Amino acid sequence: MIPFSFPLHARSHVVGDWVLEQGFSFPWETEQVRAVRESVREFAEKSVAPLARRIDEENEIPGDLLREAAKMGLFALRVPEEYGGPGLSLLEAAVAIEELSRASSGVGLVAVVSGSMVVYPIVKWGSSETKDRFLSRLSEGGIGAFALTEPCCGTDAAGLRMTRAWREGDEWVVSGQKMFITNSVYADFFVVAARTGSPEERHKGITLFLVEKSGCVDVSKLEMMGYRGSGTSIVYFNDCRVPEEYVLGEPGTGFKKVVMTLNEGRVSTSASALGVMQAAYEEAVKHSMERESMGRRLIEHQMVQHLLGEMARRLETARLSVYTAAVKVDRGDDDMAYWASIAKLHTAVEGVELVRMAMQVLGGIGYSKESTVERLYRDIKMVEIGDGTNEVQRMVISKFLAGKARPRE
Ligand SMILES: Cc1cc2nc3c(=O)[nH]c(=O)nc-3n(C[C@H](O)[C@H](O)[C@H](O)COP(=O)(O)OP(=O)(O)OC[C@H]3O[C@@H](n4cnc5c(N)ncnc54)[C@H](O)[C@@H]3O)c2cc1C
Repeated sequence: MIPFSFPLHARSHVVGDWVLEQGFSFPWETEQVRAVRESVREFAEKSVAPLARRIDEENEIPGDLLREAAKMGLFALRVPEEYGGPGLSLLEAAVAIEELSRASSGVGLVAVVSGSMVVYPIVKWGSSETKDRFLSRLSEGGIGAFALTEPCCGTDAAGLRMTRAWREGDEWVVSGQKMFITNSVYADFFVVAARTGSPEERHKGITLFLVEKSGCVDVSKLEMMGYRGSGTSIVYFNDCRVPEEYVLGEPGTGFKKVVMTLNEGRVSTSASALGVMQAAYEEAVKHSMERESMGRRLIEHQMVQHLLGEMARRLETARLSVYTAAVKVDRGDDDMAYWASIAKLHTAVEGVELVRMAMQVLGGIGYSKESTVERLYRDIKMVEIGDGTNEVQRMVISKFLAGKARPRE
């Protein structure tokens, strides 16, 4: 499990032969938050970063690394201590995800889904037996997946209809197809949104189930552009039999639960984007300190300073938005969905721009497979799509504003 015994010190990044001090103290950087950052960073730098290129090339995380990360509790981040988990707040989990993703986005995304998105609905709506069974499983090294998207329906999640579930005796049968499901290759079980009513009922006819990965589940791994190694796949549920107690909440209430889970997911995904942004920024700073042009280091050229300054602005405002949203969700504030979407949209838009700028600072080598930035450039684009596209985040934000706006008295 993640140890919490690390000393307090400023946030500093070792960048090649340089140490980049960013010792700003945030009100929310508690001793606990810093301890999580330090311990996950140490693990990520030692055990994850050296394998990042291989994970990207092979689209797979080596089994030893998966087991080591799981043993540390990284795929059970939000599992409460009473079920053997680290019991992290979303802010602490976000910092852990950021540090993992700084080393490898693929490993970071496994933690986003298993340690955060899968845990949330089980904690919130699982029966005590279900919690015992599935949360303890995650604490003991298991991995979970969250299966919502279908080939027909991603943004239009209320329209999902390709995975159906019906009652047979005292069991449910879950059958159908899901698309782009992260972790499927490694997962021991799935949280599945299935249609239990008619398609015309839309959001009212959806139910959440826990489905064990057994002989009834087939997984077909996809070759995605970035975030490789995260096991994103097509999943087929072939008449999987599920006991009544594996239904999360009342039948027909699944859509609302999905929406609530996405608040958590969007913060976690934006934390992962933050890790990717941090890695790209560090690569650019390092290169600009070492590379010379026209008798001066790149960092001494005003045009490059402009790029680095803009990258720093994007990185630090992204960090502010992610941590703010995490604290909002931790507190259960009324505006947490708004802030989760702000963080997700902000890290996506600024992240894509930041990594593009990092590649610009590196020049030709940045565009080659030799560089880490080339991988990060492919990774960051995912954040504009997964867990709700930029367009969806803008919809959530403006719906919230429309609900809050009133005529002046
Ligand atoms: C790497 C990766 C991992 C993923 N992991 C998971 C996972 O673990 N579990 C899971 O369930 N899903 C997962 N997804 C799926 C992801 O959430 C969806 O891809 C995303 O929600 C978009 O859905 P879609 O691909 O069907 O695109 P579509 O919904 O077809 O959208 C296509 C385009 O149309 C726009 N659009 C659609 N509807 C509207 C509208 N009403 N108004 C305005 N614009 C609209 C979209 O913004 C987008 O630009 C993952 C995706 C990726 C890329």
